[in-house]
This record gives sequence, C-alpha cells and structure tokens, in this order.
Amino acid sequence: MRNLITASIAVVTLLLGTACSKKDKISDPADSPVEKCSSCGELAGLQPGEKLVTLETNGKKITLIQSGSRYKLDPDLYLTDRQLAILKGEYKGDEGGRTAGPPTFIQLWPSRTVYYTLHWNLANPQVVADAIAHWQANTNLQFVLRTNQPNFIEFKTDENACWSESLGMKGGLQIVNLGSACSVSNAIHEIGHAIGLYHELTRKDRDYYVDMNWANIRPEWVSQYQTYWERGIPGFEIGTMDFSSIMMYGSLGGSSSFDPTVPVWTDKNGNTYAREDELSDGDIQTYNLLYNPPSISIVRLNQVRVTTPEGRGYEWEDELQITTPFTWPWPLEIAIWVHESHFDGSYFTHYEHVVLQPGQTTQALGSGWQINGSSGEDSYKRTAATVYQ
Ligand SMILES: [Zn+2]
Repeated sequence: MRNLITASIAVVTLLLGTACSKKDKISDPADSPVEKCSSCGELAGLQPGEKLVTLETNGKKITLIQSGSRYKLDPDLYLTDRQLAILKGEYKGDEGGRTAGPPTFIQLWPSRTVYYTLHWNLANPQVVADAIAHWQANTNLQFVLRTNQPNFIEFKTDENACWSESLGMKGGLQIVNLGSACSVSNAIHEIGHAIGLYHELTRKDRDYYVDMNWANIRPEWVSQYQTYWERGIPGFEIGTMDFSSIMMYGSLGGSSSFDPTVPVWTDKNGNTYAREDELSDGDIQTYNLLYNPPSISIVRLNQVRVTTPEGRGYEWEDELQITTPFTWPWPLEIAIWVHESHFDGSYFTHYEHVVLQPGQTTQALGSGWQINGSSGEDSYKRTAATVYQ
C-alpha cells in the first residue's frame, strides 16, 4: 500500500529589513501629543469608571482596560467581542466561515474600501476630511460615504477624547471618536487603528531599538508599554523600529509617568522623539502588507520521472518554486508548514523557510516534491498542496 503524502503551506510571514529610516529628533514637550491634546485618550490615564483587569488564558496574562462592559487594548483602542473571544481562547469561528485556518485577529476592510458616515455631533468635520485625504493621497485605501453598506465607521464626538472602537474592521457600526481637541494627526492615527495598525512602540523587537525608563512609568500603566507579544496578542512587524510612525507614542508619557518632563523611553543613543503628524514610509508599507499583500504561489519548475528503489515502477518527482508577482523592498521570509507521512507510518510536521530578497520574485524549493502520487520505501516526499496567506 502506498501512502499519500499531504502538505499544506502556510505563509506565516516575518518581515525583516531596513525599510524605515530613523530620524534623530529631539522632542519639544509642546510637540507631544499628550501635551497638545491632553484629553485625547492616548495615555491620558484611566477614564472615570475604568479599571485594569487581567485575563489568564493559555498560561499567559493579558492586561486590558475594562470600560463598562467593554474592553480596551490601549487607552485609545477598544477590542471587539470577537477579538476578546480570540484572546480568551473562546472563539468558535465566524458564522459561515472557512472550514480551516486559524481565526484572523484583525479583519481587513474588503476591497480596500472604508465606508463611513459623519455624525451630527462631530466636533470638527474638516479634521476627518483632511485625515481621509491624507490616507487616500498616500495609499490606495478608499473612503466612501456610506449609503446602506453594513460595515462602516461613524466619526462622532461623544467624548472629549480620541479613540477607535476596533482594531481593524469590527463588522457593523464602529465608532471613531474625535473630541474637539483632536488634530488631523490624531484622526490619521485613529483611522490607522480602525484599519488594523497597532502602536509601533509595542512591537516585539522594540527593546533592540529603545530603552524603556520603567522607573518613570506608573505601575498601572506598565502593561500599556509592554509589547503585544508580552501581552499575548497576535501581531507582526516589518522593518526596523519606525520612530517616525504615526502610530508611535512620543517619548514623554504624560500622566502615565511620575515625572512628565522625563522621557519614558529613548532610542539607544538617548534621543527623545515626538510623534510625527503624517504617515511614515513604514506606516504605508505596513498598510501595503495588510491590504496589498505579496501573492505567493507554488509552481512546478521541472518534472523528472524516476524509478522506485525496488524497481516497482515509475513516479514523478517535481522541482518546485515559490513565486510572487510583486517585488518587496525588504527580505520576505516565508515559513512553509510541511506535513509529512512516511511508509513506516510515522507522521510529523515541520517548518521550512524560504527568503525572498528585495527585488526577487522566485525562490526554488528544490526537488523531491511531487504534485500527486507516492514515495519510495526508504524516503518520503512532500506535496505542495495549498498556499495560505
Ligand atoms: Zn493609538
């Protein structure tokens, strides 16, 4: 009896490289978003009725902000019920969803189109118009006034703060709250959350790039400065730390710090930073990775007919390669998840890694793969069946 070999290929992406340039910029406290907009939500302290809560799931502790019946990941960022369920390990899948594959923590806006409305109480519609214009000028994201579409953002001013109700598309109505003090920069930032961007300072490799001044961070805010990895949140990062990201916190911690005149973080040279007012190159590249991802597929490069060791017949051995129609400005590391089953009945999985260098569109996987069929007695072969992204 011959064993069938199955393989699935998961593109798990970790993107490395130097996409972003670092700016040496000494911050003026007046430039700090906390100072410019003290009631804009970001690191502005717990709001009345809010408290920090810790969830334990899968052996990890996740600290969130409980705000009424809802939960925030960060002071300006609510989690959806779906995201909370995923973090608590209680997610059962989307209704009518896929038959396989892990739940996606962030839902993207289909067709790169965000439908939106402006609530009558919105304090400054021009801020929203300018922020939308900035996103549209720098990306292929489109904002369309909603007519009857089910999923949409409503920009409104229920509170004197800046926050986003969801990381990515929530499904249904989701609010981006912009108080009267919120700037165009704040609105660009909150839209960034609404399409799926985290705070840049929480990337999991940030300690390679910054020194945290934990002694100046109030205990109740320590969790807000942890990396998403430490907090048990799924995510990824690209390039190196992007100090000019619109999603970066400034070096001054405002009310999250004991001394607001002393930085809560600096770069490795002791430089401090204010948050920039526009999308950085890194922000745009991260957007592109989410909404214009490199398409990766497996193609057959060559096929060789080989004889089995026992001379029982022939089988086809393939030489395969990964190919993508896009070139990418940084090395693209692709993790290939391979399932193998052998003639002796053993079965295991492992990862194989392929790296596409900048400008490279193909990478050979080598021979020994096969599209259909079986293997010899003393070896195994791998079948490239499916590519997941
Ligand atoms: Zn934010």
